Amino acid sequence: MCRPSGHHAGRDFGGGATYLNNSAIAARALSATLGRISLIDIDVHHGNGTQDIFWEDPLVFFASLHRSPADYYPHLTGFSDETGGRSAPRLTLNQPLSAETGDAAYIAAFNTCLEAALYHGPEVLIISLGFDPLASDPARGLQLTVEAFRKIGETLGRLDLPVLLIQEGGYDLMSLEKAATTFLLALSQPPNDPACS
Ligand SMILES: [Zn+2]
Repeated sequence: MCRPSGHHAGRDFGGGATYLNNSAIAARALSATLGRISLIDIDVHHGNGTQDIFWEDPLVFFASLHRSPADYYPHLTGFSDETGGRSAPRLTLNQPLSAETGDAAYIAAFNTCLEAALYHGPEVLIISLGFDPLASDPARGLQLTVEAFRKIGETLGRLDLPVLLIQEGGYDLMSLEKAATTFLLALSQPPNDPACS
């Protein structure tokens, strides 16, 4: 748990009130000893700093699902044609989403990111965990309910893989506690029946 969030901080820039990229620092440290790492950013804003840091890194896969930058911060990155640098082709995956996106479409986009993240063969999966896709969040980006976080938590809880959570955004103080609690309980105690998700 950390404040401020970190995913807008790149190799030589800060942004969006972030200065140190906590998820990237963790990914680099883990990658140095374990090798392949995958990182999925579910904050409502594109993780432009994280993408920048790992753009040419063949060991770290990065996926982000977020409100489309066509009309939303950070505006310049996060489009689907950004797929990684020459040294790391197809190791970046962006899923820009429209403002109307609700739970079902978001979870489908998350599952696409997760499938690609697992295909990379990571030793650890890092989640840049933003709660600002909630419809109630003042970021006003997407239309998620707490239920989406429960389902994503369940999916992550069923993985036979270490999962590291790094806090990113989330600014609706009225719903943040419920969303975080629901997500963490689902992750730590997923139901046995995958059909439930
Ligand atoms: Zn955010």
